[in-house]
Amino acid sequence: VYSELKDKVAVVTGGSKGIGTAISERFGKEGMKVVINYHSDKEGAQRAADSVKKNGGDAVIAQADIGSEEGAQKLIDAAVDNFGGLDIWVNNAGMENQVPTKDLSLDDWNKVINVNLTGVFLGTKMALRYFTDHNKKGNIINMSSVHEQIPWPTFAHYVASKGGVKLFTETVAMEYAKQNIRVNAIGPGAINTPINAEKFADPEQKAITTSMIPMGRIGDPEEVAAAAAWLASDESSYVTGITMFVDGGMTLYPSFQGGRG
Ligand code: NAD
Repeated sequence: VYSELKDKVAVVTGGSKGIGTAISERFGKEGMKVVINYHSDKEGAQRAADSVKKNGGDAVIAQADIGSEEGAQKLIDAAVDNFGGLDIWVNNAGMENQVPTKDLSLDDWNKVINVNLTGVFLGTKMALRYFTDHNKKGNIINMSSVHEQIPWPTFAHYVASKGGVKLFTETVAMEYAKQNIRVNAIGPGAINTPINAEKFADPEQKAITTSMIPMGRIGDPEEVAAAAAWLASDESSYVTGITMFVDGGMTLYPSFQGGRG
């Protein structure tokens, strides 16, 4: 627990399940006040909010499509109206689907880019405006992926969005560094969340994924949330523009394990 986080206000996009819920719950343990954004799963968001309160924090839920400017506006309004301000904005919402690139429809391309990349831009812009208008130090955390670095055939739109998030994060971090607004990304590896539920339910698929992880296991959403709490805290006060990989070593060229090659 980082004592300075108590009573800080955070927005978490896509908080109704998976990593977004785990980050909200962790922020609850830190005694923070959290706006939990959801797109369609109101029950999931409500469960996450109840859990934040049980953990010692406060929470409200807010429906919004983060791929739209009105959506991002709704979330900053929810933070200001309910909790009187904003300290930390987490752009977590994301989606993926698997299609060979030659068959990838423009509609699928646009959907994934809209949530994963445009959503990060719009959330970041709202947060930056709030921090600069109020002359406040600020903290933005973007959920990238190991796939900002590792190519992933049949997920071209997803990797394009995450590669975009990487350089967007670095650029905005540099642009606002003097105003003491820190902007970082987290790059999860394979994490046990609903996005992977189908894949990891198949033992063969799960074994293939696990073989690509030096630590030999799938990660838990709480392990990603721990990185978010550290990046949100003053313990990371001199850190900006990084992607913190939380991946059990997946980005370390695991095919070289055991001295192969
Ligand atoms: P998830 O599918 O469990 O949750 C994604 C959340 O985003 C959901 O709550 C969903 O409702 C929300 N969302 C989707 N479209 C939205 C929109 N238009 N507006 C608002 N919210 C929207 O997935 P997760 O595994 O928890 O993933 C969270 C983030 O972590 C994503 O950005 C994902 O790309 C990234 N990530 C996940 C993994 C993993 O292995 N699980 C690995 C690398 C990166």
